[in-house]
Amino acid sequence: MGSKRAMAETQDLKTRPRVLSGMRPTGKLHLGNYMGALKNWVELQDKYECYFFIADWHALTTDYADPSQIAPNTLEVMLDYLAAGLDPARSVLFLQSRVLQHAELALLLGMSTPLGWLERVPSYKEMQENLTNRDLTTYGFLGYPVLMAADILLYQADFVPVGQDQQAHVELTREVARRFNSFYRLNGREVLPEPKVLLTPSPKLPGTDGRKMSKSYGNTILISDPEPVVRQKLKTMVTDPARIRRTDKGDPDKCPVGDLHKVFSTQETMAKVYEGCRSAGIGCIECKGWASDGLLKVLAPIQERRANLTEAKATEILEEGSRHAAVRAEQTMVKVRDAMQMTLTTVAAAPAMR
Ligand code: SF4
Repeated sequence: MGSKRAMAETQDLKTRPRVLSGMRPTGKLHLGNYMGALKNWVELQDKYECYFFIADWHALTTDYADPSQIAPNTLEVMLDYLAAGLDPARSVLFLQSRVLQHAELALLLGMSTPLGWLERVPSYKEMQENLTNRDLTTYGFLGYPVLMAADILLYQADFVPVGQDQQAHVELTREVARRFNSFYRLNGREVLPEPKVLLTPSPKLPGTDGRKMSKSYGNTILISDPEPVVRQKLKTMVTDPARIRRTDKGDPDKCPVGDLHKVFSTQETMAKVYEGCRSAGIGCIECKGWASDGLLKVLAPIQERRANLTEAKATEILEEGSRHAAVRAEQTMVKVRDAMQMTLTTVAAAPAMR
């Protein structure tokens, strides 16, 4: 198994560009996580050499006061990764904190990253304003983009798959790499190649209250929610405010349920929704039932896979993937340390080279 993987990897190295992405373990994943990231990652596995990780240290940047949920959430995210179709035979699935080189590279990159770059990251001020129940005036939180840069640069990723709204993070990583490369080189060559953005589809996915689906709004539909829960959540979903009574006409383009239909329903159902809503020929309950049907069709194979997984198996895969990732990470760190002359051999070898 090990040698087969090594052979496959050697082939991959020659032919496939590398991608890397990860998620913070903040709980079970929801449909927004799936449609905006996970589904794309599953598809990337056929074309790229893939590294996908669980960013447990990143969870600490906001949850340092109460880390009790990070480990259980890590397991839930791993089960969701596998259930969604991430395949350990085609992707390296790993846990950030198991690969200590992430911390080492973050520390080294932090030495040359100007404070002003971090203070102007859009999400820095935004999160401080929105997460008012937490103290985010910490060194760890300000520095999280440096850790993120380390996550990416450690694997010398060619691409980082992101939605439109996350491009700024990859841009900062590119700047961090550029600055590092301007100071440190190895035999005249760049050590940390700049990754590129791989724009992936990220459809508009409203939560049950009509705002963007997000754990912090408490409006999510989880990919592991059983059918009755999905149906119940959709029943309470907000609709076009113009349809107060059953006889009022509505517009699916102004309705969050309509947005769900656009992502999950067939053309045929969509036609019935447009016709029925605009003529008041259908009720919202019926329409929501159809939306649930479409959504559950997508969730069924995911939930079937999840039912066949065990926590022990998920942990084993994560440990094995982390060992594999650490080998790759160390290859980069050997070069980084060398370029920064942080090795005793560099010092010892210097006089002999004269
Ligand atoms: S019929 Fe459907 S699309 Fe129209 S307002 Fe009701 S839930 Fe929304």
